[in-house]
Amino acid sequence: MKRCTRCILPETLPGIRFDADGVCQHCRRAPSPELHAAQRDRLRVKFEALVDSLRTQPGYHCLIAWSGGKDSTYTLWLLKEQYGLRVLSFTFDNGFVSPQALKNVREVAENLGVDHVIVKPSFDVLKEAFVASLQPEMYPAKALIRASAICNTCMALAKGIGLRIAVQNKIPLLAYGWSPGQIPLASAFIRLSSPMLQAMVDAAMSPLEAALNDQIATYFPERQQLMEAQVLPHMVAPLAFLDYNEETVLHHIRNLAWERPQDTDPNSTNCLLNSFACLLHTRQMGYHPYVMELASLVRDGYLDRQEALDRLEIAPIPEIVAAVEAKLGVRIADE
Ligand SMILES: [Zn+2]
Repeated sequence: MKRCTRCILPETLPGIRFDADGVCQHCRRAPSPELHAAQRDRLRVKFEALVDSLRTQPGYHCLIAWSGGKDSTYTLWLLKEQYGLRVLSFTFDNGFVSPQALKNVREVAENLGVDHVIVKPSFDVLKEAFVASLQPEMYPAKALIRASAICNTCMALAKGIGLRIAVQNKIPLLAYGWSPGQIPLASAFIRLSSPMLQAMVDAAMSPLEAALNDQIATYFPERQQLMEAQVLPHMVAPLAFLDYNEETVLHHIRNLAWERPQDTDPNSTNCLLNSFACLLHTRQMGYHPYVMELASLVRDGYLDRQEALDRLEIAPIPEIVAAVEAKLGVRIADE
């Protein structure tokens, strides 16, 4: 398969173009390392100014969407220990969270001394949502370039639940554990107006609403709440602009008794659905759902090109895929 000679984007990715040297348009447009560093630094300064202004306020300073994976666990540590914020953490349990990941969130919350809630929708609702996501047409093609349809479903629910909790409790900061490459730098620290936030909620909710009707509104903030909210949260993914290094991440979270689950595939440290979702997406779309993320890690110098290519080749674990199929009551065709 033809790939960009600089990053790893394949010819099967929608909209990809290569120049005469075989370099893709994403690499051509990428800022220089100096400019990229300056952009990250600017976000860090803005974020730290906000944190300084929040620290003396009463109530929760920050809500974090905490999957229990390594990056969001490290983000939680940063917010609590490095930045001294009063943090409420919530874990969205999609019915496929690894038992070790659930043990991790219980122990880390205890060791770090943070408040923690687990939100677990009924499995009937989750199952219906995931089965609907087996049809990639559920989402616009653009949404599938960065994540599988199944991941889109989970992210929409986690985003809706997080916003609802933040708005209801007037929490001024909503944090995510996205690591570099998982979101564009331009989205790493933003505050949306209520109409923009409403548009974001509508975009996340409408594919699920179409599949599940009125069961879904309860996981999203209500229109009225957003319009009347006195505090609309800043949304931040600190790892996208702070220094990121996997060894440092593991060092800090192991001190909190975090252990790597042995039952997930190597690309995920919390979710048992991941193998299945990646396999299905690759077959349906002709490219791996992590290829954009891995390509930007290569472009920004976080990951070696060959290592990124190797990660695309990680085979799904057949037992995990079979267990997901059994739990969802579906079977994806063998190839
Ligand atoms: Zn490229």
